[in-house]
Amino acid sequence: MKQLVLVGGGHAHVHVLAALATAPFADTLVTLVSPYSRQIYSGMLPGWIAGYYAIEECALALDALARRAGIRFVQTSCVGLDFDARQVRCANGETIPFDHVSIDTGLAANLAELAGATEHGLPIRPIEGFVAAWPGLLEKARQEEFKLAIVGDGAAAIELAFAIQTRFAAEGLNHARLMIVGGNRKPLAGFPFLLRHKVMKLLAAHGIAHQGRQRAVALLSDHVQLEDGSRLAADATLIATGAAAPAWLAASGLATDEAGFIRVNPMLQSLSHPFVFAAGDVVAYADSRPKSGVFAVRAGPPLTNNLRAICQGQALTPWQPQQRALYLLGTGDEHALAAWGGFSTGGAWVWRWKDRIDRRFIAQFGA
Ligand SMILES: Cc1cc2nc3c(=O)[nH]c(=O)nc-3n(C[C@H](O)[C@H](O)[C@H](O)COP(=O)(O)OP(=O)(O)OC[C@H]3O[C@@H](n4cnc5c(N)ncnc54)[C@H](O)[C@@H]3O)c2cc1C
Repeated sequence: MKQLVLVGGGHAHVHVLAALATAPFADTLVTLVSPYSRQIYSGMLPGWIAGYYAIEECALALDALARRAGIRFVQTSCVGLDFDARQVRCANGETIPFDHVSIDTGLAANLAELAGATEHGLPIRPIEGFVAAWPGLLEKARQEEFKLAIVGDGAAAIELAFAIQTRFAAEGLNHARLMIVGGNRKPLAGFPFLLRHKVMKLLAAHGIAHQGRQRAVALLSDHVQLEDGSRLAADATLIATGAAAPAWLAASGLATDEAGFIRVNPMLQSLSHPFVFAAGDVVAYADSRPKSGVFAVRAGPPLTNNLRAICQGQALTPWQPQQRALYLLGTGDEHALAAWGGFSTGGAWVWRWKDRIDRRFIAQFGA
């Protein structure tokens, strides 16, 4: 009997779990390793913050998916891969033997470049940590003259800012001030010019300040320090900067790019260890792609097919991620912007569209 270990319950692996429930891999014992029994769908997280969804509506039950797939679920984190012994090393001390391993663990919070981040910041990842801390933050926002800084100016930071502003307004916290601290003159570097322009206007309309001249370099208990030494008052700080590769990947000896992401071939196999597969944000594709849930979701079916093939001794099939992805960006008040290549549009209908897509994604893996 072959042993396949799925490390992480990310977007591609939930597809593998669903496929296993309908057609198990022949002669293969499969184990899922994940620190949490559920996977919170990041696309709906801003909607949960805004108050539109209950957290259960945004979560996939990994334990139930594993049960339906007829596989073993070990609730812990992977901390390393031992290629000599062919074992996954886990945070709970367990070691799990494998013939093949597949990694879909997403990104780790990147706190190293921001002094004081661990003590004074709330990172958006791991999402479960943020979800646990959010009610306390909302409570704190009831204090007089509350100022919240969001460090980061990418898509996640922007969606968070709009969602939080919407929630503050719904809770009557009109005194609370929100500020995005990014290093770019306009947020959303890499997105179409028109979209960035629209976002700037929407931020201003929602009363969300944008500090885009200087990068944040340190967090203290009551302010954010910028690279030119100036300080911005902040009673709390969210960290939504570009995240990093988990350190244990390169430490295990896997071939990675310079940022530590797993280098894979078009079959989603590690370039250094062909019995290791990987998908999602943790991967450095030969033909680079942005870190985005879209590519993690799309990798699900080809990853499933190749894991099935390798476990059954069949030929692998190459996969080419699409060139472009549709971005749907919630902008608060049940509105959203859509971007496809250089084109962008927005409004309440885009939010309804996004809401339908997100709910459909969750429903296909529902219990
Ligand atoms: C607020 C926010 C909003 C976003 N909105 C969108 C959006 O609308 N559209 C979009 O395309 N992208 C969006 N993104 C980006 C998107 O979240 C990621 O690109 C996507 O989650 C990547 O999927 P993944 O499968 O690689 O990893 P993840 O979804 O991060 O899943 C990784 C899983 O692995 C588990 N794990 C982590 N470490 C270990 C370990 N050591 N051992 C075992 N398991 C582990 C985690 O608990 C998690 O279950 C958003 C991100 C954020 C933060």
